[in-house]
Amino acid sequence: MMIDQDTSLYGVMGNPIGHSLSPTMHNAAFSAMGVNAVYLAFKTEDTNGCLRGMRALGIKGMSVTIPFKSAVIPYLDEVDPLAKKIGAVNTIVNDNGWLVGYNTDALGALKALEEKICLQERSCIIIGAGGAARAIGFMLREKGVAISVANRSMERGKELAHTLECPYIPLDKTEDTNADLLIQTTPVGMHPHSNRSAVPEQILEPGTVVMDIIYNPLETKLLKMAKARGCVTISGLNMFIYQGAEQFKLWTGVTPPVSAMTRAVQQALSGNNERN
Ligand code: NAP
Repeated sequence: MMIDQDTSLYGVMGNPIGHSLSPTMHNAAFSAMGVNAVYLAFKTEDTNGCLRGMRALGIKGMSVTIPFKSAVIPYLDEVDPLAKKIGAVNTIVNDNGWLVGYNTDALGALKALEEKICLQERSCIIIGAGGAARAIGFMLREKGVAISVANRSMERGKELAHTLECPYIPLDKTEDTNADLLIQTTPVGMHPHSNRSAVPEQILEPGTVVMDIIYNPLETKLLKMAKARGCVTISGLNMFIYQGAEQFKLWTGVTPPVSAMTRAVQQALSGNNERN
């Protein structure tokens, strides 16, 4: 790849950021499409500083990950209606200094779920109430799925449940649920703490569909337990690819090379499943 005076810069802001395969995925996409651009990971604690840096340096696009998806909103010039409704932004487009926030997690999750299962007449327990949970919750609600939200902190859990007009379940009371779809959206089980699960094994009934949106490692402890108990499992990989494909489209206007993106991420995960 040739880096020169015309190379555009993109990146991801988050903390921690070492788990992210967004640089691998987007650099593979730029390369496959011959786009003169690079994508870097920025570990930051300064939300506003990061966005000011985007404007000052002309960074063309930014992915936003934990814990900034809601925190970036007040610093943006414009927020897309879906992201506003969700209350979380995972993508920023820099249009000549005018920063616009979008949310592609909802679409990514929807595509990953619908390619495996039919959502009609489902009931779902969402574990977690952060940015990703909000996006998934709004999307499932639009699809008519009967949702409940389980979260560690009661305040955040109840707030999301109230917004989604659904029940809140304390995280240590999830055995009372009988949902046929469980979506795990906390970082528990993510590399390097891959021996953990936020979900107790005993609630995993045979036939339940269990999706863990963590993609590093590809098979989390939760998914291993779910598989062993006869559940249908869905990893976070395809949601990650599809949300990234939507970002690529927003930034470049070009149809994303989904297979090149998938190949690059799979290669990185198989070469170093527990990567830094
Ligand atoms: P976030 O906004 O920071 O929310 C984190 C959520 O996890 C909160 O509900 C928090 O509960 C809960 N949590 C954190 N640590 C916990 C613990 N030790 N025990 C129990 N609950 C805990 O994060 P996010 O943006 O939603 O992202 C969450 C995860 O999803 C990350 O691992 C991220 O990489 C992954 N993700 C994957 C994709 C994909 O495409 N596959 C997309 C987006 C996100 P409290 O309210 O109690 O703090």
